[in-house]
Amino acid sequence: MMARPQLVLIGGGHAHALVLESMIARPIDADVTVVVDRPIAIYSGMVPGYVAGQYRVEQLQIDVPALAARAGARIVLESARSIDADGRRVVPTTGEPLPYDLASVNIGSTVAGLDLPGVRDHAIPTRPIADFVERIDALVGDIGQRRSSDTCRAVVVGGGAGGVEVAFSLDARLKAMAGPPIEVTLLNRSERVIESYPAGLARRVERHAGTRGIQIRNRTRVDAVTADSVQLDSGESIPADVVVWVTGAVSHPVFRSSDLPTDPRGFVRIRSTLQLEEHDDIFAAGDCGTFIDYPRTPKAGVHAVRQGPILIDNLRASLAGRPLQTYTPQPEFLTLLNLGDGRALGVKRGVTFEGRWVMWLKDYIDRAFMKRLQ
Ligand SMILES: Cc1cc2nc3c(=O)[nH]c(=O)nc-3n(C[C@H](O)[C@H](O)[C@H](O)COP(=O)(O)OP(=O)(O)OC[C@H]3O[C@@H](n4cnc5c(N)ncnc54)[C@H](O)[C@@H]3O)c2cc1C
Repeated sequence: MMARPQLVLIGGGHAHALVLESMIARPIDADVTVVVDRPIAIYSGMVPGYVAGQYRVEQLQIDVPALAARAGARIVLESARSIDADGRRVVPTTGEPLPYDLASVNIGSTVAGLDLPGVRDHAIPTRPIADFVERIDALVGDIGQRRSSDTCRAVVVGGGAGGVEVAFSLDARLKAMAGPPIEVTLLNRSERVIESYPAGLARRVERHAGTRGIQIRNRTRVDAVTADSVQLDSGESIPADVVVWVTGAVSHPVFRSSDLPTDPRGFVRIRSTLQLEEHDDIFAAGDCGTFIDYPRTPKAGVHAVRQGPILIDNLRASLAGRPLQTYTPQPEFLTLLNLGDGRALGVKRGVTFEGRWVMWLKDYIDRAFMKRLQ
């Protein structure tokens, strides 16, 4: 009897969660192993809502071992250190290498700038997102107990979609507590916030920030963080009791240490079939892959989610020797930003909108997604 092919899924990101969901309904013709560094994966779309106090932590959690068990897959709780593409083995940080015939990577990303002075010691980075969620709890508890009348100054570094949502959500949560007065500042390196989205959406963000008393400072570059301040490259020091670090996405070191083809941020280069450049037997989905043909595709969960069904079809097709499908990133996908106060902003095909109904829509979409995986 011929041995069954070995499929190794590395990471429990959004695309792999959907791959496992599909295998529950229709098993795949392979022995499947999931290698993941921690059992609980977090659905980032609901994280700003969690920061704002709109969701309980269980609502954001995907139990990867439980999903794998239902899909008939083996789970290995290890961080993947590298992929030995010549030897066709996934090398974990501590355990035995795992041989594969087909591998797929969906390990997400980390935040840029963690090695700047003081960032690891004094700022709260949004990645790993599970650690962020825990630290937010501790932070909110701590600030809520302060009885001083001194203003608590929170500085959010990073003016992309994640930074904007975190700033507004934190503002809503902290101001709703019976703690000290709160001042939230958002520091953004570029000319305007959410630079990769239409200017109309950024204007809406700025208008709401004005109404809510959230300061946005564009064209500011942070050099260092200390115990009580953020240092700008201009020499200015901004007082800060809390610093949240939401700068752009960069890759985990896995691909560079594997000598696989990467882009300048260390993300692995993929074709539109989700296969790695020059490696037909390794797939990658979500933040960790950069399309050779669409390198400017934003690192957003929506792509990881949309790639899930293509990924499972292509894994099945690869095993069966059938032709593969391709994924074309849509630049005009629906983007919804949670403002933390029951309202959200949105944009679709360049048209922007806002209101409570937009938050209702976001909540509906996010809950429906999680219902499939929990
Ligand atoms: C605050 C915030 C809010 C956001 N909101 C949105 C939003 O509303 N909409 C949107 O589209 N995007 C949003 N994003 C972006 C979004 O988080 C990412 O694009 C998305 O999570 C990427 O999904 P993924 O499937 O690639 O990986 P992830 O969801 O990050 O999953 C990675 C998985 O791999 C595991 N892993 C990591 N390293 C290893 C390793 N070495 N070995 C084994 N396992 C490993 C992790 O534990 C996890 O299971 C937001 C980001 C932030 C920070």
